[in-house]
Amino acid sequence: MTVHGAWTRAAKGAMLLGADGELRPTIFAEMSALAVSTGAINLGQGFPDEDGPDEVLEAARQAISDGVNQYPPGLGLPILRHAIAEHQHRFYGLTVDPEREVLVTAGATEALAATILALTDDGDEVVTFEPFYDSYAAIIGLSRAKLVTVPLRGADFQPDHDELRAAVTDKTRLILINDPHNPTGTIFSQGTLELVVELAHKHDAIIVTDEVYEHLTFGVPHTPIAGLPGARERTVSISSGGKTFSVTGWKIGWITAPAELLQAIIAVKQYLTFVSGAPFQPAIAVGLALPDSYFAEVAATLEGKCAVLSEGLRSAGFTVSRPRGGYFVLADAAPLGFPDADDACRSLPELAGVVGVPVTAFVRPERRADYASLIRFAFCKKVEVLERASAQLAGLKR
Ligand code: PMP
Ligand code: GLN
Repeated sequence: MTVHGAWTRAAKGAMLLGADGELRPTIFAEMSALAVSTGAINLGQGFPDEDGPDEVLEAARQAISDGVNQYPPGLGLPILRHAIAEHQHRFYGLTVDPEREVLVTAGATEALAATILALTDDGDEVVTFEPFYDSYAAIIGLSRAKLVTVPLRGADFQPDHDELRAAVTDKTRLILINDPHNPTGTIFSQGTLELVVELAHKHDAIIVTDEVYEHLTFGVPHTPIAGLPGARERTVSISSGGKTFSVTGWKIGWITAPAELLQAIIAVKQYLTFVSGAPFQPAIAVGLALPDSYFAEVAATLEGKCAVLSEGLRSAGFTVSRPRGGYFVLADAAPLGFPDADDACRSLPELAGVVGVPVTAFVRPERRADYASLIRFAFCKKVEVLERASAQLAGLKR
């Protein structure tokens, strides 16, 4: 018996990127399983191999001991909502009302899902940059909205402003950006952010910004688009504690947005998970209040790891991108005789004992050719692991 015929349009929409429409695990799950089955070093799925700060871990243990184990309030525990508002003010000078403008979610993933489902109707267009994080296309498909993309090209993966202007029209409901960007490591220029705001005004669109890598930038300050003139009243900002505090499995995310937009998002969110992660919420509040030195160090350490892996990949014969933030570096495998990164990623565990993710997993089928030979490698791993992976990859040349 096949259940395939029973899939609704929404379920099929979620599989937008699967060329054959069959149920597949996400590329991250697939590649992590490949790493486990082959014993290869996993530079595929983006998660750190070391835990976050002791204060944060201890706060979660303490919360469990203190009985913070039942449903938290729908908006999230007040202590976390206040910490999020204080964080926005401390780092970006943004004033956010913790009672009306902050919502705690099950990771940035649920924040994105609730936002897109709440704010788009059938046929509304959502403009995003391509490559894009895989859940964007899936949720846009679930919502029956239409995905419209603007390509990121060239050595620095910046968008062409004329292409961005052409993509945003009166049909555009959301402009969805991800800054710093996964998988390219791009940080958008002030000019691009200003153009997004200008276009959102011109076409009465809402800006949704995924800033989960906000603290992981390399010598470039993070500029939240919500801080630009005219942006705040039409911007939904999304972040998460997973990356900043190296606790990706906790899935504590959040949204800050004007109260009116947030009400619609809450209406959806309350029937997705209702609430989640009670004891992790006060722990992330502790993290958000850590001194500036923590945030500076986390970025500096990661920048050092980026340099180690980038150098290793370059020596191994790849052409390597220069990420300005995030967890990932892109390596072109064509110089090593791999024109197709999908094939390369499936053979790398055997050939070099390393797992990466093909960038084609972040693009629509019709754009695959533009990114065909690029592999995304995660550098959020111990330096010795990155060195070992580099040494193993160096064997590809021989
Ligand atoms: N957005 C981007 C760009 C990501 O890379 C990720 C993956 N960590 C997420 C959202 C999902 O974040 P979370 O794990 O908090 O759901
Ligand atoms: N955000 C992580 C990445 O890009 C993966 C999260 C997931 O597995 N869905 O690797």
